[in-house]
Amino acid sequence: MISRRRFTSGALLAGMSGAGLFGVAGVSHARSATSGTIPWRNWSGGQFARPASRFAPTSEDELVSWLGSASGSLRPVGAGHSFTPLVPTDGHLLVLDKLSGLISHDAELLRATFGAGTRLGDMGAPLDAIGQASLNLPDIDRQTLAGAISTGTHGTGIQFHSLSGAVTGLRLMTTTGDVLDLTAESRPDLFQAACVSVGALGILTRIEMQNRTAFRLKATSWSQRTEEVLEEFDASAAAHRHFEMFPYTHSDFATVLAIDETNEPINNPLPSPEEEAAFAEALGALMTIPPGERRPVINGILQQAERSEAVDVSYRILTNVRNNRFNEMEYAVPREVGAACVREVLATIAEKEIDVVFPLEYRYVKGDDLWLSMDEGGDRAAISVHRTASEDYRPLFDAVEPIFWKYGGRPHWGKVHSLGYTQLSALYPKFDEFIALRAELDPQGRLLNDHLKTLFGL
Ligand SMILES: Cc1cc2nc3c(=O)[nH]c(=O)nc-3n(C[C@H](O)[C@H](O)[C@H](O)COP(=O)(O)OP(=O)(O)OC[C@H]3O[C@@H](n4cnc5c(N)ncnc54)[C@H](O)[C@@H]3O)c2cc1C
Repeated sequence: MISRRRFTSGALLAGMSGAGLFGVAGVSHARSATSGTIPWRNWSGGQFARPASRFAPTSEDELVSWLGSASGSLRPVGAGHSFTPLVPTDGHLLVLDKLSGLISHDAELLRATFGAGTRLGDMGAPLDAIGQASLNLPDIDRQTLAGAISTGTHGTGIQFHSLSGAVTGLRLMTTTGDVLDLTAESRPDLFQAACVSVGALGILTRIEMQNRTAFRLKATSWSQRTEEVLEEFDASAAAHRHFEMFPYTHSDFATVLAIDETNEPINNPLPSPEEEAAFAEALGALMTIPPGERRPVINGILQQAERSEAVDVSYRILTNVRNNRFNEMEYAVPREVGAACVREVLATIAEKEIDVVFPLEYRYVKGDDLWLSMDEGGDRAAISVHRTASEDYRPLFDAVEPIFWKYGGRPHWGKVHSLGYTQLSALYPKFDEFIALRAELDPQGRLLNDHLKTLFGL
């Protein structure tokens, strides 16, 4: 018997093994090769650069003096988990890894300040030790806190903002040597711009987050007809702390994941290697069946899948390990049209017989007022499509991106999209204000690379 929880990870694996490709040699798109000597590559391997130098400050003072003395272009990098060319530079690559760890906390307000380079996965234990926990987390925890908030990274749950929406304060160092401590109260405009800034305003060195008391979560996962889940999605999202679905392409079924608070004892066993291998084999075989003939097979497997449960501390339930590399496109559409949009994406993939086994991911995020947040102005439904890192993602992404546009979607800053200034300025009421602020804080444009110039129409 195959558990549904394993099916999700297994399907991702099948996408890899079925294609028989684990490397990145076949990727010929979306790269930025420049003339330096030190190579840099993002997580999926789709972005590449040769920055002239790397600088990893060990303290904020060291960073301030470096900013005062260095010349030329620079880009801050987090964990390199963005799929878009936000980071590539032929100038200086600024690595904030050493500015990490818990700096201070407020036990009364349940807030904590971390170094900007802290990996999300390194926050759970120190927070637990002071009785706090993140309100919500994304699907994985390898990102840095600065990188995550810079792109509006989010988890799932209609009660929860993206991580950017949980920021209560941050320190931003500009290329002109200013050190700005920002909160919603002290500098509202600058704060709302800096909470999602794609690394275009300056260098974040420390970030204060709103947390809550430490807690335990129970995840329950099952298979259900996609249409049934979509019809009930609003009610399910309201009933559970976190709720999301992974609708399968060329199938009528989805894996559903509901997560709620619990006091039950911890029980979160890892899948055995045998179980993982069985999945890889069973699901890899799917790739040998033409997409148009896959539906009954996938439906059959999902109908047999058993319900699965796991209980653990919050941060171990909210995040997963994704070892198999992929590229991803994600758009956030207004919540009300999310179901219609996901139906059209699935129908288009089926009609065009696009050869993809990866499930979609469908989740809700609470609206906020941050200038470049995908969720600015109201609740949004985030819809993701994925493609194995070694495959050309264009046939899939080109087919679905116009559907996202039709439903008023905003692209995730860190995930593949083809939009530039004209479309983005129509999607964000404060886009031009952000661009003006960017010019004020970085007048020489030292933080700009080719991708940012396209985004901002420069
Ligand atoms: C396997 C996987 C799963 C993912 N799951 C989710 C998910 O569930 N939800 C979601 O919303 N996204 C998700 N993402 C996307 C990911 O969270 C974002 O792309 C995020 O920005 C990556 O963080 P990073 O630390 O790798 O930053 P990078 O990709 O290295 O950088 C991102 C941006 O942040 C800027 N930046 C980094 N550090 C600083 C700094 N100190 N100061 C100023 N700017 C800085 C960079 O210049 C760049 O513009 C996922 C990505 C992967 C690969």
